[in-house]
Amino acid sequence: MTETKFASLTRIPHPSPISDAERATRVADPGFGKTFTDHMVTIRYTEGQGWHDANLGPRGPLSLDPATAVLHYAQEIFEGLKGYKMSDGSMALFRPEANARRFNASARRMAMPELPEQIFVDACKALVEIDKQWFPSVEGGSLYLRPFMIATEAFLGVRPANEYLFMVIAASTGNYFKSGAPAVSLWVSEHYNRAGPGGTGAAKCGGNYAASLVPIAEAMQAGHDQVVFLDAKEHRWIEELGGMNIFFVFDDGSIQTPPLSDTILHGVTRDCLIALAREEGLSVREEPYAIDQWRADAESGRLIESFACGTAAVVTPIGKVSAPDFAFTIGSGGPGQLTQKLKARLIDIQRGVAPDTHGWVVPIS
Ligand SMILES: *Cc1c(COP(=O)(O)O)cnc(C)c1O
Repeated sequence: MTETKFASLTRIPHPSPISDAERATRVADPGFGKTFTDHMVTIRYTEGQGWHDANLGPRGPLSLDPATAVLHYAQEIFEGLKGYKMSDGSMALFRPEANARRFNASARRMAMPELPEQIFVDACKALVEIDKQWFPSVEGGSLYLRPFMIATEAFLGVRPANEYLFMVIAASTGNYFKSGAPAVSLWVSEHYNRAGPGGTGAAKCGGNYAASLVPIAEAMQAGHDQVVFLDAKEHRWIEELGGMNIFFVFDDGSIQTPPLSDTILHGVTRDCLIALAREEGLSVREEPYAIDQWRADAESGRLIESFACGTAAVVTPIGKVSAPDFAFTIGSGGPGQLTQKLKARLIDIQRGVAPDTHGWVVPIS
């Protein structure tokens, strides 16, 4: 645990926030990750001093020295979680302490200082509270929160930096897919890997995403929506999509997902869906699943559904899988029944429509 001389957030409301009329226009069609709110949280860390200068203030550009460490060696981590409007009109976060814990796990892997979990959660709550008017007026909308940390020391030597900046920004966000979730088409990356044993695959760091952009572009060029990554060693075991975890549904009512390791991101949505599926009486296996088995099972009809999951798109049905030398369709090629059911169960809890028996919903103020 890092030392901390920390008071509470200093609140500096925006002197000239975006007008009500302009905000109303923007939140009526917010898209994903582009309609930003008026405020942001900044908290600084200096070696020897700990975390300090915690502010909730007007959102604006950063001024960085060109030698700032993050710009050269990518010492950066982030999180993604959502603020929801509950059926009674109140605002809430969903399992923010799970994101805080994972943020610190990522920090340890990237040689960055840990942030006390309570500060992480309080920063997220404070930003939602001050910018709640940005909650989108669209079906399935949320305030998407992006906490992140960068190395800010101006130094070109290769070692962990001794200064950091933690921030939280928020974006008014609509449904990831406009008319509910269509089934996506996946491309099997035969050449590129997302993560290797001993690497940073289990850390939520920007570098992993940078490495995934070429295979994603390749998939899109071939007419697909997303990439599915295989393990780096044998190039056979299905890992994840690079931003979403993956599940397989079988005709005997069981479901399966690859086991957590240091090459798979430990998704909060994944964890919730495992719990909800078990409550539905389904048997859930966390076991490796091979690409050739996936194909054989889809062709024989033993595998009836597959879906990807993550905070942004919640649950996304997978309709088709392609590689340079094969392609197969899953079920009817559209959203499967169990996929839809689990998605609805999760969304109902997140929005306060169904009772929260797990203590996942954290009210704001
Ligand atoms: C964030 C992320 C996920 C999904 O995690 P959630 O906590 O469910 O949002 C899956 N894979 C990767 C690589 C990620 O960065």
